[in-house]
Amino acid sequence: MQPPLGSLVHPGDCTCCGISWPDHQLELDRQEVLLRLGTAHEGVCKQCGQKRIVFRYVREQQPWEQDEPPVMWFCARDWSIARESEETTGFLDFNDLFDRGSDEQLEAGLRGTR
Ligand SMILES: [Zn+2]
Repeated sequence: MQPPLGSLVHPGDCTCCGISWPDHQLELDRQEVLLRLGTAHEGVCKQCGQKRIVFRYVREQQPWEQDEPPVMWFCARDWSIARESEETTGFLDFNDLFDRGSDEQLEAGLRGTR
């Protein structure tokens, strides 16, 4: 075992769990996928209103939000759309931006995100 970078007084990496940041993210992703597949069930998609197999969707909690975002249920298609939109814009759709965005983000959204 090599000691972590730095001295004992100022250790480098986190010594609690010894897991690196990317590994930690991977593990979180893995757990999320398991949870999503494990909780999939037949239901009504929040987005399109169709009766489909729906999957759990929770968007990222924003710094200005006090509560954790609510769980939403989307069909596979809308789940992908929501995830893609959130990854590109940070919001699920315009309504989401309207509800949750800061003034600056709303302004940016209104100018058009292309
Ligand atoms: Zn749908």
